[in-house]
Amino acid sequence: MTSVEDRARLVLGNWKMHGSLAENAALLQALRAADPAAHCEIGVCVPFPYLAQTAEALQGSAVSWGAQDVSAHAKGAYTGEVSAAMLQEFGCRWALAGHSERRSLHGETDQVVADKASAALQAGLTPVVCVGESLAEREGGDTLGVIERQLEPILALGADALSRMVLAYEPVWAIGTGRTATPEQAQEVHGAIRVALRGLGAGQVRVLYGGSVKAANAASLFAMTDIDGALVGGASLVAEEFLRIAAI
Ligand code: PEP
Repeated sequence: MTSVEDRARLVLGNWKMHGSLAENAALLQALRAADPAAHCEIGVCVPFPYLAQTAEALQGSAVSWGAQDVSAHAKGAYTGEVSAAMLQEFGCRWALAGHSERRSLHGETDQVVADKASAALQAGLTPVVCVGESLAEREGGDTLGVIERQLEPILALGADALSRMVLAYEPVWAIGTGRTATPEQAQEVHGAIRVALRGLGAGQVRVLYGGSVKAANAASLFAMTDIDGALVGGASLVAEEFLRIAAI
């Protein structure tokens, strides 16, 4: 059985569609000076146009960077899409796949999300695959069923692929709402994901929690056995708050 100690904490920021060259400069300067806790890795997922700025600012720092989406295709007539190889050229370490806003606003299916994760892996990026239930699904008692369905094509990629990924449980009702899952609610889902991962020999895969995480609630979430860090939206836009989460 894998122990918690084998999974270094990961705190990843998701800037979503926020920022400007000027605003980013101040945020990146503060991040560049980050000195996260020894057991914690940190990174930021920024809008595509700011990857070059981010790479230049964070090169050589303790903070890695990545994108918020990636194409499932390697190249070709896919107007508006960005391939994993392109992200790799900008030094990206991470690519989010299947964020709930991509699933709901852009119709990404579970299979498309798995294809995006595969494309990221092929280019040497670490996909961060997001799953999570809506409020109606939770209230209908279907949380674990939804997570199982969303993860099915991801788990089908096998232990080797999984060992090069990160998963993120982000209940849709907690994203950007200020309403965080309780540590126990989150642990219930993380525990179920861990059982599924262990069943495939991939118990070491990190599973982040996301949904209105801030410095004030992060410690109690991180205290849960199967929560290996956080995917942080709104609070990642404020350097001091984000770095406080990474310092826990
Ligand atoms: C997210 O964007 O993945 C997220 C969890 O957002 P927030 O922290 O703002 O809820």
